[in-house]
Amino acid sequence: MDCIFCKIISGELPCYKVYENESVFVFLDIGPVSPGHTLFVPRRHATNLNEGSAEEAVELMKAVYMLAPAIIKAVGASGYNLGMNHGLAAGQDVMHTHLHLMPRVDGVARTFVKTNPTQEELAEVAMKIRNLLLR
Ligand code: 5GP
Ligand code: ZN
Repeated sequence: MDCIFCKIISGELPCYKVYENESVFVFLDIGPVSPGHTLFVPRRHATNLNEGSAEEAVELMKAVYMLAPAIIKAVGASGYNLGMNHGLAAGQDVMHTHLHLMPRVDGVARTFVKTNPTQEELAEVAMKIRNLLLR
């Protein structure tokens, strides 16, 4: 199947992985709106939440619950936005269900403008998150 996220999950395309389990694959967004912008993706391909199972939706949110503290700590944020775009009308670009976690720092404008960090910057953020998860 010609799906970018399926290819990332299978290892065919590279990513800055943060975490994975049987149900969920978690990696940094390549065009973050804030440092630490992370994508939570069900392993099994489905276009949107309702094409997957309720269990997969629960597992997705469980992963957010578990990882959010480490993600925001790693980038010095104190809050975060969660977002899911379902369908073209909502601005969904990648047609494989995903949830955006966007860390937010006190006093920094909350924009949804994509940035273009270097590979090194992305690698460092992913490493910091993974290290915090190991503790
Ligand atoms: P959507 O608009 O579908 O909710 O968001 C898709 C997100 O996937 C965008 O924020 C975009 O930056 C991200 N994205 C698109 N292609 C890739 C990719 O190849 N690798 C990673 N890590 N993120 C991607
Ligand atoms: Zn897919």
